[in-house]
Amino acid sequence: MIAANNPSLRSWISVPEGSDFPIQNLPFGVFTKSGSTARVGTRIGDTVIDLSILTASGQLEVAGFTAEDFSQECLNPMMKKGKEATRRLRQALSDLFSTENHAAASNESIQKALFSVNEVDMCMPVQIGDYTDFYSSKEHATNVGIMFRDPANALLPNWLWIPVGYHGRSSSVIISGQDIHRPKGQIKPDDNEPPIFAASRQVDFELEMGFITYDGKPLGDSISTNEAEDFIFGMCLFNDWSARDIQKWEYVPLGPFLAKNFASSISCWIVTLDALQPFAVESPEQDPAVLSYLTFEGKKSYDIQLEVGLTPENTTEKIISNSNFKYMYWNMSQQLAHHTVNGCNVRCGDLMGSGTISGSTPDSFGSMLELAWKGTKPLLMNDGTERRFIQDGDTVTMRGYCQNNDVRIGFGEVKAKILPSK
Ligand code: MN
Repeated sequence: MIAANNPSLRSWISVPEGSDFPIQNLPFGVFTKSGSTARVGTRIGDTVIDLSILTASGQLEVAGFTAEDFSQECLNPMMKKGKEATRRLRQALSDLFSTENHAAASNESIQKALFSVNEVDMCMPVQIGDYTDFYSSKEHATNVGIMFRDPANALLPNWLWIPVGYHGRSSSVIISGQDIHRPKGQIKPDDNEPPIFAASRQVDFELEMGFITYDGKPLGDSISTNEAEDFIFGMCLFNDWSARDIQKWEYVPLGPFLAKNFASSISCWIVTLDALQPFAVESPEQDPAVLSYLTFEGKKSYDIQLEVGLTPENTTEKIISNSNFKYMYWNMSQQLAHHTVNGCNVRCGDLMGSGTISGSTPDSFGSMLELAWKGTKPLLMNDGTERRFIQDGDTVTMRGYCQNNDVRIGFGEVKAKILPSK
């Protein structure tokens, strides 16, 4: 077991009941404080910890790291050091902030590195190089197939053989809290008329999780399913915003383009794969048996509870979906093995989206398209209004956490409001 995951550990920093961030989490993020330069931090309870201050003052000494690695606008220089190094770093933070370390609590240099979450501004944690989005929920792919193609053949013939994906766009990946203007584009409201140029009338969210990679292998080499987790730094919540009307008209034959690249939101803190190990679970059974390079051993899925809240302006939030990352048919190790099987190289800071995470019941679907079933079953909001898609002024908030009898490891939230089109 990873020592920093020991459920009996407690921190001398207070952790509120039900917090996503006990000492067993120790996620990584980037923040600024009252206009200071950006720096790398971790979080315990509601306290953000500045790793650049700790390292510069000699309170945090980890082989392979200098203070400069943490005086950065992104986690990439830290992630460049690889899995063994970041594992040592997380362990050193666990040791420093554990109740075992009585002296640290009264150390003035350490106190100077601690800030309330309320006094810092979170930044994009990763300089994302390439962004790939998969389509790995069987329930989601089946629902979309039923609605848009053929209920009798909802899954396309390749779906059970290939972790289907497409290359997305990294420039429009944004951080939680940044709002989005409704996108404009070509839509075709009437099948018998030519397309029109207009603001999208069918803005939707996609409940996903993302994973961030370390440097992979050189171009031409492949990462096996058994090696894959050594190349995954951590995970975040991910909302892959989508304009369904733009998507429907443009997506044949090359897949999503402007329907997806106007914005994709990620949560502020990257939770390491190490911290998630206690929540590894078996993946769903795969039938037909997958090709040999996609076979894997052990528990490669993760039990992460997910929810989506929708808050129209001037009323309270309604929880409209409860799902779980463990429902995914294709796991991250299979996705990464497939991504590199042709020799494609992944790099430090690449982002991989899971694909919309839908469960088997209607209250666990991961998009408005499915929840309101193409507009035929509108959702009732707390103010009595109905939603088929996301309206101007609506805020979408996604949350995720793992929980067992001992510990809760959470991701916080990813949220954004849809503003009127520009
Ligand atoms: Mn997606």
